[in-house]
Amino acid sequence: MSGKDSHVQDDILRHSLENPEEFWANQAEHLYWHKKPSSTLKLTAKKLKSGIEHDSWEWFPGGEISTCYNCVDRHVEAGHGDEVAIYFDSPVTQVKQKYTYRQLLEEVEVFAGALREDGVRKGDVVMLYMPMIPAALIGILAVNRLGAIHSIVFGGFAPNALAQRIDSCKPVALLTASCGIDGNKPPIPYRPLVEEAFKLATHKPRRTFIWQREQVPWAPTDRSAGQASWQKVMNSARSRGIKAECVPVKSADPVYIIHTSGTTGTPKGVLRDAGGHAVGLHLSISYLFNIHGPGDVVFTASDIGWVVGHSYIVYAPLLAGASTIIYEGKPIGTPDASAFWRIVEEYKVNTMFTAPTALRAIKRDDPDNKFLAKVGERGGLRTLNALFLAGERSEPSIISMYQELLDKYAAPSAHVIDNWWSTETGSPMTGRALVPHAGRDRKAKTRHDPPRLKPGSAGKAMPGFDIRVVDDEGREVDRGTMGNIVLGMPLAPTGFRTLWDDEERFYKGYLKRFQGKWLDTGDSGWIDAEGYVHVMSRNDDVLNVSAHRLSSGGIEQAVTSHPLVAEACIVGVPDAVKGQLPFAFITLSTPSHPTAAVPDEKLAAEIQALVRKQVGAIASLGGIIQGKGMIPKTRSGKTLRRVLRELLENAAKGEFDKEVAVPSTVEDAAVVDVARRKVKEYFDTVGEKHAAIEEGIKAKL
Ligand code: AMP
Repeated sequence: MSGKDSHVQDDILRHSLENPEEFWANQAEHLYWHKKPSSTLKLTAKKLKSGIEHDSWEWFPGGEISTCYNCVDRHVEAGHGDEVAIYFDSPVTQVKQKYTYRQLLEEVEVFAGALREDGVRKGDVVMLYMPMIPAALIGILAVNRLGAIHSIVFGGFAPNALAQRIDSCKPVALLTASCGIDGNKPPIPYRPLVEEAFKLATHKPRRTFIWQREQVPWAPTDRSAGQASWQKVMNSARSRGIKAECVPVKSADPVYIIHTSGTTGTPKGVLRDAGGHAVGLHLSISYLFNIHGPGDVVFTASDIGWVVGHSYIVYAPLLAGASTIIYEGKPIGTPDASAFWRIVEEYKVNTMFTAPTALRAIKRDDPDNKFLAKVGERGGLRTLNALFLAGERSEPSIISMYQELLDKYAAPSAHVIDNWWSTETGSPMTGRALVPHAGRDRKAKTRHDPPRLKPGSAGKAMPGFDIRVVDDEGREVDRGTMGNIVLGMPLAPTGFRTLWDDEERFYKGYLKRFQGKWLDTGDSGWIDAEGYVHVMSRNDDVLNVSAHRLSSGGIEQAVTSHPLVAEACIVGVPDAVKGQLPFAFITLSTPSHPTAAVPDEKLAAEIQALVRKQVGAIASLGGIIQGKGMIPKTRSGKTLRRVLRELLENAAKGEFDKEVAVPSTVEDAAVVDVARRKVKEYFDTVGEKHAAIEEGIKAKL
């Protein structure tokens, strides 16, 4: 795109793709380098054991950097030591704390000193299994300070998931806590979980540092597992004046390993490069998020275990010198659906980031947005410039609703910004940038309009991401045509270049499908004439109805446009005639949810009409099941469509109680039982009508 129709974001994108060396060299200057890179981009090739060769690349070769220095020391040295780095807000323990940059530096250098005394060295892997408390950030930064590599495992995972990850990256030490707290449930002691994981794992970390929380003590008695109380070790180091300086690493050295949340298969260890990570995140936090430094407050309602938490709770806000909020609570239930708006008001948040699933949960509990309006009416949301949403597709109805609410209550011209990315890419591939330039003068907080809002689209490409839509042969399709979303290489600097210890799997999982020409994102969608990217579904969730490829996301969008539907999940069930038939699971936003699994006829007819009108008669639903708390999610908020599909298929065969494979990453396995009961009730009620599905399943067998 060019000329008068083009938006400045298009020009910046073009610059980054046409002249990546110049573009990223400019960006690199915002960071402190212990050794300046000798060049910006080196294109290389890699040879696999199998003999296959594929293109590769390296950002900022020759450079040496300490991310910890850039996140902490640099701001103190610049005179910002008294600015707040971390606000900790834990409604589940009634604790609120803050750390200035100076206090954060003191904690990090002492703990890094203690870890160094314990033998942690540059290049070692240290694993974290932590709740959302400040010690987690201190631990992450201390590991980074030593030039070691961290691998954070979500603190709600079960022992087998932790053991799998221990064996995958063989950490020398584990940083953990005596308990985690999941919403309004009682504290979960970590001791049995960690000790069970150690039993299951083949590799044994030689040290376990336990952050003691008063809710549940954990006396570090198991010396064979090297258990030690984190606070005691810290106090000892502090009293002896032990501190560690920053140890820089090469640009291409890993800063961390993160395992993809994965709904199936063994998790993949995505590797992040130190140099590209710092430079790319610094660009995104300033250009896309309009966060520049002291006085700016970022509230990312995610968990440090996910990539969103790595990038926008921990690193990016600190790289900018802003304040980040660690929130140990949930969108609802701690104590209610007002929680997020309270945080925005209390900490004068400028940028908020959450997943659409959190907003759906709020919508279920507060369908008329009374809580938000209450805070809004007294001006409590006036600091908020943007609400970022990612992790899943956001249905247009949720985007439009929140945009209207922001227009009414937030800062002038505040924006809802859907942004699409993944663990692999490390930062958003799309979005609507809030700052009109990606140049050097970031101090001027110029406000301008990002590319206009198109609900249902995740915005336009971010610098360095060459996004294309191709058919199954890898040929680019016309604008507006649905296909596989792929990336041209090199990826932008935050993007991964390989998997931990598994180059073959990197090739097989991402490059092989298009013979190394494109990197497969695993998502389907389309790019419109103006360059907006519409991400519709994971490839696995594409339905094939009468030889038409329909996206579950597109049908869900139609279903959720009904004002009574808070959430919808579409799965494809086999159909003898059409191949597959879309089937809807819905949760309503009515204050008292109907108990029947079959919706009343009027509602069902209205939903069908919306699907026919917005997607087409081809997508007519084969059935609708309604219920509350029956759509299973992963811990990171992704809908487990496969589980619902299997329940339906089994039910159609009369096998209502048959086990379905539920991944260990499931948020709440009890939800699957609710869904099972609803499916059974539905089939009992509807009975004969489902002959077509039964036929379809027979045909598939
Ligand atoms: P993860 O690596 O676990 O963060 O998952 C990445 C996947 O989440 C992407 O490949 C998409 O399928 C989905 N995703 C993330 N953000 C969005 C978005 N804004 N719109 C649609 N899908 C998204």
